[in-house]
Amino acid sequence: MKIETQCLHEGYEPKNGEPRVVPIVQSTTYCFDSTEHIAQLFDMPTEYMYSRFANPTCDAVEKKIAALEGGSGAMLTSSGQAASLCAVLNVCKAGDSFIAVSTIYGGTVNLFSVTLKKFGIECVWVSPDATDAQLKKAFKRNTKAVFGETIANPALRVFDIERFAKIAHEKKVPLIVDNTFATPVLCRPFEWGADIVIHSTTKYMDGHALQVGGVIVDGGTFDWAASGKFPEFTTPDESYHGVVYTRDFGNMAYIIKARMQLMRDFGCYQSAHAAFLLNLGLETLAVRMKRYCLNASIVAEYFKCSDKIAAVTYPGLPENGDRALVQKYLGDGCSGVITISIKGGRAAAIRFMDSLKLASNVVHVADIRTCVLHPASATHRQLTDEQLAAAGIDGGMIRFSCGLENVEDIIADIEQALAKV
Ligand SMILES: *Cc1c(COP(=O)(O)O)cnc(C)c1O
Repeated sequence: MKIETQCLHEGYEPKNGEPRVVPIVQSTTYCFDSTEHIAQLFDMPTEYMYSRFANPTCDAVEKKIAALEGGSGAMLTSSGQAASLCAVLNVCKAGDSFIAVSTIYGGTVNLFSVTLKKFGIECVWVSPDATDAQLKKAFKRNTKAVFGETIANPALRVFDIERFAKIAHEKKVPLIVDNTFATPVLCRPFEWGADIVIHSTTKYMDGHALQVGGVIVDGGTFDWAASGKFPEFTTPDESYHGVVYTRDFGNMAYIIKARMQLMRDFGCYQSAHAAFLLNLGLETLAVRMKRYCLNASIVAEYFKCSDKIAAVTYPGLPENGDRALVQKYLGDGCSGVITISIKGGRAAAIRFMDSLKLASNVVHVADIRTCVLHPASATHRQLTDEQLAAAGIDGGMIRFSCGLENVEDIIADIEQALAKV
């Protein structure tokens, strides 16, 4: 199946007389005839028994996302943050370290540099422009993973997945890629050597600003046993009566370990109703992504021609610094997010944003409706102007997320708001 078809049909196939649409299985639990049957499930959970572990609605959506990414299996989580957390904790424990690219999403930066540090896990930061030699130097004996974002939010830097995957594999650790902004419609990181993919499904996958959620997808190709660095995958798990993940679950070792250990213990599950809403978004993902890309490329060109705009960053612009990476990884489009810098700094940016009528001023991105955010007064509010400059954010910077309105209406709105600046 091509990706548009997969979006509609993967994960759920009704049998004779069953509902056409994935049903919401709204039940915490499942009935069995015998105590012995339930006892067996506690040794080896092969059937639904409690919705924190697995649920038929979530299962259908997990299968769909795994198919879209080309992975062996997936696990929905309550948010993108929970997906990032579990993706790392499934391979790192206290005393370990991992490497992450410095331009990734601010919420992930905080999780990795502040909160995981309190768990005894160290994140070593590298530049997206690090040479192979610099990247190799960042590895330590206790390094257990490398982490990057396909299109970074909001820096919009494009990640050289294949290069980072190759070096991660030389060092016998997996590459984890946050594919939120690209979605599997525009880039499938497993095809470039990534081992684990995560998403904040809150963004394009849901698309309608309905439901916070996340997902982790297992590529199924990393050889945990051959690596020798992951005894938790290759030796008996005492908390599951001696399960050995690599031996018992083959190419789903990573994702089943995440479910059996981390979802069981942390409980950051996605509800059936949330998964149902996510699935509605997924059904049209391929169709929507094409239009986001088209609208954003037209809007980016428009911003470029305005004498009130100091700078426009959109990976799809021909002069973008990541052009070679865009051509390699994002041949089908560069998604819907643009960052602009308005001449006149903070005051001009605020005036522009407050003058927009169609575009909404929200703490969100990748919505079906055009929306804007001013990092200097929202997500990066605590920083001084000097610190903002060091983070590559100036007071005039705006994150502009193109929606699916007619692009002429989006531009008319920008035009009337810029006239007031
Ligand atoms: C929003 C976002 C997250 C966090 O996801 P939540 O669903 O808000 O928890 C992680 N990564 C990226 C790239 C994001 O844009």
